[in-house]
Amino acid sequence: MKTFEYARAASPSDAVRRSGPGVMYLGGGTNLVDLMRLGVAQPDHLVDVSRLPLDAIEQAGDRLRIGAAVRNSDLAADPLVRARYPMLARAVLSGASGQVRNMATVAGNLLQRTRCAYFQDVSRPCNKRRPGSGCPAIDGDHENLAVLGRSDACVATHPSDMAVALAALDAEVHVTGPGGDRIIPMPGLHRLPGDAPERDTVLEPGDLITAVELPPPPPGASAYRKVRERASFAFALVSIAAVLDVRDGAVAGCRVALGGVAHAPWRAGRAEQAIIGGPATGEAFLAAAEAELDEARPLPRNAFKVPLARNLIVRTLEELTP
Ligand SMILES: Cc1cc2nc3c(=O)[nH]c(=O)nc-3n(C[C@H](O)[C@H](O)[C@H](O)COP(=O)(O)OP(=O)(O)OC[C@H]3O[C@@H](n4cnc5c(N)ncnc54)[C@H](O)[C@@H]3O)c2cc1C
Ligand code: SF4
Repeated sequence: MKTFEYARAASPSDAVRRSGPGVMYLGGGTNLVDLMRLGVAQPDHLVDVSRLPLDAIEQAGDRLRIGAAVRNSDLAADPLVRARYPMLARAVLSGASGQVRNMATVAGNLLQRTRCAYFQDVSRPCNKRRPGSGCPAIDGDHENLAVLGRSDACVATHPSDMAVALAALDAEVHVTGPGGDRIIPMPGLHRLPGDAPERDTVLEPGDLITAVELPPPPPGASAYRKVRERASFAFALVSIAAVLDVRDGAVAGCRVALGGVAHAPWRAGRAEQAIIGGPATGEAFLAAAEAELDEARPLPRNAFKVPLARNLIVRTLEELTP
């Protein structure tokens, strides 16, 4: 591993003041330190932001503010989160292992990098790691990569489960940085790859995530479902965060976000539009899922994700129908 300097930030403004070329923030280190060991990340300086006073979960009126340094395990166990946003708790608990969740922070989880095998192997080209070097995944190992919103430059998926639930909940990401403070609505934090796959998010250099804020939970029943190759300790092949509000047999509200299918959590707006106001039936859910997946562009070895996503949407919404 390349030698680096370590410093602990005293405050969010101190962290931002220390930012600059070659500097990276350190959360729980469960992704970044792995990437440093692999030579994928090579910071000169690490600024530890995991012990900043950003570790509270607080009610703010009818909203919930979750500090960026809250550990994933504390988030999933929080009584307010479990009572008001059970889908978020389920999403977090479906990720990684107990040990990893004890270390991992909210901000670090959102900013974890793709698990594309070529990205993690510095002996191979990869447009995300080395812009302009090519994307071997397109003709190679892409079973677990994107079917929606992909580009010719990159077909990676974003691996966070938490981000999918936050996208369905219309969460807001609070950021402070050299350019000041701002609020980024989810799912807008993560980008599609386009011709700049080296940029995972819309964050600017030195931006520090300070909190995630949740609006009141949407009415209706909610669920997070994750299809993976084994029952635990595996990233999603496809996942879904869904909320369904049915009144007198008709759908009054619907939120659907998908994970494992794109470079960003995928808010299924077309499916939502097709479902809201219509009957809560399997046929209607199937037509909506097909409308959403119409724009899928699978590769030869990940085409299975399209029917998987379709069936997951239909099955989950049927389960949520009273
Ligand atoms: C074996 C294994 C299995 C896993 N399985 C899953 C899974 O199934 N689902 C899932 O969702 N995740 C999974 N994970 C990923 C895990 O959730 C992430 O490693 C973790 O959430 C990252 O959090 P961290 O605090 O350790 O981040 P770090 O590794 O410390 O940082 C990650 C990135 O975030 C940046 N960063 C950290 N804090 C801030 C901040 N406040 N502001 C701006 N930038 C910041 C860092 O600079 C770095 O770029 C798995 C991890 C492992 C090791
Ligand atoms: S899919 Fe993206 S991350 Fe994977 S090799 Fe291609 S450019 Fe790199």
